[in-house]
Amino acid sequence: MLTEIPPGKLLITFLALTAIIAVRYFLISGLFYWLLWGRKPEKVHAIKLMEGTPRPGAVAKEIRWSLISSFIYAAPAAVVLELWQLGGTAIYNDVNAYPLWYIPVSIGIYLFAHDTYFYWTHRLMHLKTLFPVMHRVHHESRPPTPWAAFSFHPYESILGAIFIPLIALLVPIHVGGILFILTLMTLAAVFNHSGYEIFPKWWLRGPPGRHLITAAHHDLHHKYFSCNYALYFRFWDKLMGTDIMETEYDFLQPAAARKTA
Ligand SMILES: [Zn+2]
Ligand SMILES: [Zn+2]
Repeated sequence: MLTEIPPGKLLITFLALTAIIAVRYFLISGLFYWLLWGRKPEKVHAIKLMEGTPRPGAVAKEIRWSLISSFIYAAPAAVVLELWQLGGTAIYNDVNAYPLWYIPVSIGIYLFAHDTYFYWTHRLMHLKTLFPVMHRVHHESRPPTPWAAFSFHPYESILGAIFIPLIALLVPIHVGGILFILTLMTLAAVFNHSGYEIFPKWWLRGPPGRHLITAAHHDLHHKYFSCNYALYFRFWDKLMGTDIMETEYDFLQPAAARKTA
């Protein structure tokens, strides 16, 4: 079926998707950078995580790598989009094609599978042989800023770009479910690298914070490198003994031990 896609149409779809991904990145990362890093700290109702500010030129590098990633993300996405129009993927349009309960279930399957893929490929990239080739670029963000959302070496971007298009060939999902996941992915990438924790303390101290990843969790990965590898859920890190969080932040200590409110 791949050969049925007209090359000219594929190229236009690829360029259009690159533009959409890049513009969306500039709008969301730019907004959060301005809100969190560009305004006076006292105006920001968020918790600053790592000490210090980005080195001179660090943000420019994050933007450059993220723009290259936009091209890489668009390539497999364009192929899947064209295949979808030819009926060659597992993405369906008719909401009645599967039971309604399958919509949240399929989203859950996609997110858990993506998280599993991310956790293990991320651990692989931390092997001494692969780290300098694939993953050092991403760890140059210390502290990360919202501009680091797609700041990856092209090899790492390729690894990150192929999973959702591949699973979309196999596991049925409604087109709205895919759009929801792509939006969540982008927001998670920006939030987790924002350098500030924007979720309220009740969220972080309660069940959501104990199971879902936010900036406070991923920031520790950029600080220590050898912990907190996952993307959405703390499940794999907890299971594999690579999760740290509660002992690192005063605002997560039991009430009696907290120095601040
Ligand atoms: Zn990161
Ligand atoms: Zn890493």
